Amino acid sequence: MTVHQSKPFESLSIDKARRDAAHFINGEFTQGTTGKSWTNYCPMDNSVIGQVPEGGRAEIDAAVKAAREALDGPWGQMSVVERTNLLAEVADEINRRFNDFLEAECLDTGKPMSMASHIDIPRGAANFKMFTDVAKTVATECFTTPTPDGTGALNYGLRRPRGVIAVISPWNLPLLLMTWKVGPALALGNTVVVKPSEETPLTATLLGEVMQKVGVPKGVYNVVHGFGPDSAGAFLTEHKGVNGITFTGETRTGEAIMRAAAGGIRPVSMELGGKNPALVFADCDMEKAIEGTMRSVFANCGQVCLGTERVYVERPIFDEFVKRLKAGAENLKLGRPDDPTTNLGPLISQEHKQKVLSYYKKAVDEGANVITGGGVPDMGDMNDGAWVEPTIWTGLADDAACVQQEIFGPCCHIRPFDTEEEAIKLANSTDYGLAAAVWTENSSRAHRVASKMDVGICWVNSWFLRDLRTAFGGAKASGIGREGGVHSLEFYTEITNICLKL
Ligand code: NDP
Repeated sequence: MTVHQSKPFESLSIDKARRDAAHFINGEFTQGTTGKSWTNYCPMDNSVIGQVPEGGRAEIDAAVKAAREALDGPWGQMSVVERTNLLAEVADEINRRFNDFLEAECLDTGKPMSMASHIDIPRGAANFKMFTDVAKTVATECFTTPTPDGTGALNYGLRRPRGVIAVISPWNLPLLLMTWKVGPALALGNTVVVKPSEETPLTATLLGEVMQKVGVPKGVYNVVHGFGPDSAGAFLTEHKGVNGITFTGETRTGEAIMRAAAGGIRPVSMELGGKNPALVFADCDMEKAIEGTMRSVFANCGQVCLGTERVYVERPIFDEFVKRLKAGAENLKLGRPDDPTTNLGPLISQEHKQKVLSYYKKAVDEGANVITGGGVPDMGDMNDGAWVEPTIWTGLADDAACVQQEIFGPCCHIRPFDTEEEAIKLANSTDYGLAAAVWTENSSRAHRVASKMDVGICWVNSWFLRDLRTAFGGAKASGIGREGGVHSLEFYTEITNICLKL
């Protein structure tokens, strides 16, 4: 493992004003009325980025009211073409301000710019473009129905926006995951109130500037910063003016939000945690399996919901696989976001670092062999940052906490298996069901095994290869519902069947 040492983040051009966050309500930036705020820290070195206002009930009320008025007013009256043209301009403006978004995202998360410039920001823009295409091509379901008197009836389904949508988003891919919801919500005619993660307030705020610039009517896109319980997150999800809640985050938070949504029977869309397996068969292409597993375990410092934390390897290639993954992990370069050679940034926060380190300790207590890592690297003048070592274990029991619970760090457990049936059983043996990866060159086996994974998405010989038109979501405790492409219609629109007797 190479460690890069130098001064913190001086090269960024993002100006001071944009390092402080603000709510964006009814088309205006505001610090709100609570008088409360918190300090936003950069996880690279724990330096202060700026201040974030904490919203209360008054800010949530104002944002929901503005969203409702926009829905009943200019936004609701716009044609699909006018609306989607505006959203295509939002995507273009994000791309024009690429560097501002990139710097804001990397300040908040500490993630390598090489990653954010390939994934977070381009996908943030693409999420608007893709769903404008979906919205323009929504088909109407239509049936003619025979009636006893022989005249018949015409049935057609009218799809209308669901209304005011609450968007609650996490910190790991902040702009990407927020726009993954805001894009389809707006394209399909809804308005939104977003509560970004407390850890990553900047890009949601910046998107307000984009909305202003391209002339999206006020109240269509609102942002209120705050925390979860007893704060903006809870106030938003409990608000009776909200018609649907779309959430990405931890399963336990999802349960709290479902309880809030029960008041008033509001629908939810939930993209939750995972403890994703990779199955590596002896007939795999070893190069590809190692390269793919390196990415799926360590990308974004392991803070990807789809990331692999359990690796099952067929016994004949187990030792070689462990040796090569260890070598790969030890070659990763931890460093500053703006160093193009950096592979791995810090975790998101000190709090998350403590959580991941508690699992590193627990793994040892549970009897793991630590193949590599397990501690905190020496990062020189960045030692106050949220750094942990990339870590690999073997030897844990199948019911160990580190095998069953989502850690969300740069770590995995590798365990051998002997038969395909055993591998399938092991893969499905947690409460979660988000994603799986299968590595084999035998295409019959690939289809057979993939079809038996209890997950929302199964990759074969790849990982994180996404087509935004496909259904995305989790099985079991990993979520409710599917979003993506036309599947987003289910959540972001309400269908009224109109039956007209001829
Ligand atoms: P959290 O569940 O901690 O937080 C997500 C969001 O919910 C934050 O904005 C948070 O606010 C807010 N929140 C927390 N409590 C409440 C509440 N009671 N009511 C309303 N809002 C609340 O998730 P993380 O941000 O830690 O993100 C990591 C998690 O997200 C992992 O479990 C990961 O697997 C999952 N995830 C799932 C994905 C998927 O597609 N399935 C994709 C990406 C991540 P605040 O930050 O202020 O506490």
